[in-house]
Amino acid sequence: MMMTNDDVLREAHEKGVKFIRLQFTDIFGILKNVAITIEQLEKALDGELMFDGSSIEGFARIEESDMYLRPDPNTFVVFPWRPKEGGVARLICDVYNPDGTSFEGCPRSALKRVLAEASEMGYTLNVGPELEFFLFHTDAEGRPTTITHDKAGYFDLTPIDLGENARRDMVLTLEQMGYEIEASHHEVAPGQHEIDFKYSDALDIADKIATFRFVVRTIAQHHGLHATFMPKPIFGINGSGMHSNQSLFKDGKNAFYDPSDSMELSEIAYQYIAGLMKHAPSFAAITNPTVNSYKRLVPGYEAPCYIAWSGRNRSPLIRIPAKRGASTRIELRSPDPACNPYLAIAVQLKAGLDGIKNKLIPPPAVDLNIYAMNSEERAKLGITSLPGSLKEALDELGKAPVIQEALGSHIYHRFVEAKSEEWDSFRVTVTQWELDRYLHMY
Ligand code: ADP
Ligand code: MG
Ligand code: MG
Repeated sequence: MMMTNDDVLREAHEKGVKFIRLQFTDIFGILKNVAITIEQLEKALDGELMFDGSSIEGFARIEESDMYLRPDPNTFVVFPWRPKEGGVARLICDVYNPDGTSFEGCPRSALKRVLAEASEMGYTLNVGPELEFFLFHTDAEGRPTTITHDKAGYFDLTPIDLGENARRDMVLTLEQMGYEIEASHHEVAPGQHEIDFKYSDALDIADKIATFRFVVRTIAQHHGLHATFMPKPIFGINGSGMHSNQSLFKDGKNAFYDPSDSMELSEIAYQYIAGLMKHAPSFAAITNPTVNSYKRLVPGYEAPCYIAWSGRNRSPLIRIPAKRGASTRIELRSPDPACNPYLAIAVQLKAGLDGIKNKLIPPPAVDLNIYAMNSEERAKLGITSLPGSLKEALDELGKAPVIQEALGSHIYHRFVEAKSEEWDSFRVTVTQWELDRYLHMY
């Protein structure tokens, strides 16, 4: 249902909303808030509220610091955990320059640009994400630990109940906020959980992912736990991914489905797969944006590290789930939940569209266990690897004009600058691993 500004005003008054958070994300996907009162809502909805962009990392230089927020009325949600009297609601916004042009540093607008490109080709994108996260205990000072509730047998509630209760509360809260939860379960690793919500159009899903992380952390806190979307918090057990199920629709029909094909996939689907595979190394910096992300993309923990696709296997980068018809979809398994959801979806779509535009043909599907192959066997099948580190990923991004175009020059340059600094800071750090390995040896 499409909402108008008037609908938002009426609903806000009816529901006794007192404060509204105008939300947007910076280029790293961190949710930012500008809080206003109900009295300022009308002005805000008209896009007349200014804020100082120079205070937001990656946003603007000082001299271009005046920014305007334009709320999307469709994103109006009242926070269910706040009191009914004097309630709090949010609106997600696009960021504009004072002259009324779209701000190039706004990730939501970057996604909209790629969606418009798809729309010109006749396509809409549907995305269904599967978000994994860990629930950890906090210490006496309230700082997060890596102690999972599963192991913490000495806490008041039985350990299982604590995590399960928190997750149940998260699911109920998300449902009150308009999410259709399809599955929620305990994951393979101790303390790890997954909540999947129903696919919908890409912009809505990007908004939902940004909000999801914030809701999950908030509810975890209410239960005395810390929720983290850090990709690989504990060495030796599975990390947290964000599998990205995607499908293009044209004229209301799933454009990836073709019952006459041997795999019941359309030519468009094969081209989209080929585009994803071609660009996967260059968009890794966006879908896997931290130093830590690359500690998840290693053999042995159900995360992909080789560039291959399969209709059967669960281990490769791209899997085609068995469902067909309207559910025909491509599952990209590399993204992790630390990504900026707007940018991550933008680069995946851009890669897929590039495959379609250039009629790329994917290599044959690999239904064998790639992890059991040696490097010669992989080379014979033409199977290459994802970047092994943030540094390698940034180098790949630097060679990929198509992916840079999806980000736009402003976001691309700010992103690379900040992430290169992040890499450098890690590179010069002396880690516990080095001490354990070398201190007594040399
Ligand atoms: P898995 O096969 O990995 O267990 P599920 O069957 O649980 O995955 O579905 C995962 C996600 O796929 C859900 O978010 C679901 O809404 C989504 N999904 C289903 N159909 C489509 C589609 N046509 N396009 C995009 N996502 C879809
Ligand atoms: Mg899972
Ligand atoms: Mg999956």
